[in-house]
Amino acid sequence: MFPTHRPRRLRQNETIRRMVRETQLAPDDFIYPLFVVEGRGVRRPVASMPGVFNLSIENAAEEARQVKAAGVPSVILFGIPDHKDARGTGAYAEDGVVQRAIREIKSAAPELQVMADVCLCEYTDHGHCGVVSKDGRVLNDESLPLLSQMAVTCAQAGADVIAPSDMMDGRVAAIRKALDEAGLAGTPILAYAAKYASGFYGPFRDAAQSAPQFGDRRGYQMDPANVREALREVELDLQEGADMVMVKPALSYLDVIAKVRARFDVPVAAYNVSGEYAMVKAAAQNGWIDYQRVMMEILTSIKRAGADLILTYHALDAAKLL
Ligand SMILES: [Zn+2]
Repeated sequence: MFPTHRPRRLRQNETIRRMVRETQLAPDDFIYPLFVVEGRGVRRPVASMPGVFNLSIENAAEEARQVKAAGVPSVILFGIPDHKDARGTGAYAEDGVVQRAIREIKSAAPELQVMADVCLCEYTDHGHCGVVSKDGRVLNDESLPLLSQMAVTCAQAGADVIAPSDMMDGRVAAIRKALDEAGLAGTPILAYAAKYASGFYGPFRDAAQSAPQFGDRRGYQMDPANVREALREVELDLQEGADMVMVKPALSYLDVIAKVRARFDVPVAAYNVSGEYAMVKAAAQNGWIDYQRVMMEILTSIKRAGADLILTYHALDAAKLL
């Protein structure tokens, strides 16, 4: 009887397919991003990200309760201040928008793991992730104390995890030292270790009002063509004290996720970014794809590539399906 090997035997029905399925998604895999703004009663839709809103603090706290109720264990917060300046002072003010949001969310949903994205770009008037010299260069070492101060104020406000996303060199070491000196040695760091200069961030910059006012971020974020460099970035962040590492974006970088997973024995996160989400939403709204099916396929692919944690705007939709 030809053929001897018939892989279709194990695909005959849903029960056996479930039994031999290699990758299982669960709500525990997800981290849900929230964009917090000043004011009260604000729930402003982000035009390029249907289903995503800019939320004032009390609405963000309500959303966080729903995230918890859906079984998703974690949120990551992005603050959008009313006032921006050259040094991003809103990022590290003790009563800054993100610091107040952390306090409010931790009291609304204490078991939720609240992650604080640490970067200056939402808070600087020029929109870059660090401080900028007179001649327009993004200054590395001068930015580290500000990022460290942001990390400390967020952790003091109650953030469970600090997640630096700025891609300055040495920032994990600087933040680790600052946290330890502030008596916060127990606060873990999730480093955006391999963050690429990607066109897929467009809708996020709408949501966070953080587009650079001049130039671009290719001088500090990674070149999309490179993978060996990603492994070096991850290695350096781990040497500097990162507890977990992230690859961002996810979909065009599944090979990077897989290589990081194979090389390093720490939890690996991947950010299913705004442009990836927007494309799926737009195609679904046009009736061109089946939203739920494509969403689950994408999330499964990110986990199959090796991500333990997935930051995704689909988190609530996916958790409800699971
Ligand atoms: Zn940034």
